[in-house]
Amino acid sequence: AQPLLRVSGLRKHFRFKDGWLGSRQQVRAVDGLSFEVLKGETLGIVGESGCGKSTTARLITGMMQADAGEISLDGETFWQPGKKISAEARRAVQMVFQDSHSSLNPRMSVVDTLAFGLLAHGIDRAVAVDYAGRLMDAVGMPATEFADRYPIELSGGQRQRINIARAIALRPRLLLLDEPVSALDKSVEAQVLNLLVELRESLGLTYIFISHDLNVVRYISDRVVVMYLGQIVESAPSDTLFSSAAHPYTRALLASKPSPDPREKIAAPPLTGDPPDPINPPRHCRFHTRCAFAEGVCSAKTPHLQAKPGSHPDHRVACWIHVPDSGHSLAAGGKETTS
Ligand code: SF4
Ligand code: MG
Repeated sequence: AQPLLRVSGLRKHFRFKDGWLGSRQQVRAVDGLSFEVLKGETLGIVGESGCGKSTTARLITGMMQADAGEISLDGETFWQPGKKISAEARRAVQMVFQDSHSSLNPRMSVVDTLAFGLLAHGIDRAVAVDYAGRLMDAVGMPATEFADRYPIELSGGQRQRINIARAIALRPRLLLLDEPVSALDKSVEAQVLNLLVELRESLGLTYIFISHDLNVVRYISDRVVVMYLGQIVESAPSDTLFSSAAHPYTRALLASKPSPDPREKIAAPPLTGDPPDPINPPRHCRFHTRCAFAEGVCSAKTPHLQAKPGSHPDHRVACWIHVPDSGHSLAAGGKETTS
């Protein structure tokens, strides 16, 4: 498959003045992100809160402007510094958020909510209402039953279905789903995930699925990107990532994941403490302050994302352990393994 979305060198730092001396600070929310999303696939993005997942989504939808980098959609420049994304282009990328409550207007009925965006695009009211009914059918909420209801009369799962219907109304190419099932009960979660899978197939959509829940990401994603403090530390096809994660951070995340099958538990030192302050992230390998395998090289030289030797060709990791002759004692070809 061809890439639908290509993100290169994306960067977003939030600058602010801190304290009475007014010293300048910056939060490196997204710090040099490059990845691709292939047509028709679901790319999962995982990481702890504050790793830059949601900022990444906002930069891609154009809700927020990046400082540097480039985004292309279907081979054409979608965003670059100084370029404003046209309304036409923006339609191609839609977003669904976690909080289905605050994203729906409590004073608008379901049919009005769905027809509203279409009216704004100059579509005739009768046509918009008819189309809204078909959208409701598509997300499993028949218009005859739900058209005139208000958000307060719907369950969390039903509200999220309406948000999904609204997101697909303008026939986007790419949906960014930011923790779309995190607020739902487990039983409802499965139904909404299945709906998303069906819609992806029937409408030819491509997804970016952001979540801290590794079980959910594993279920829905074809490939997964792991973020830590604004950077990608590992990326791989989903099966490869969940069976042979290579980065100590990914392994720690997986080791602390509640798993339905204890045999698949990955042996790794569990993650301790909170992520460091993104205002002053640790230099070079940003994970070195929490990594059980940190050595001198880790805080002296920056490990870049590169192919993991001997793994799937699309498995990439940013860790000195996986770079031969890097100076890390666990690296294949390193001093301690060859002498
Ligand atoms: Fe740990 Fe070093 Fe690898 Fe960073 S580069 S994850 S500190 S072993
Ligand atoms: Mg978030």
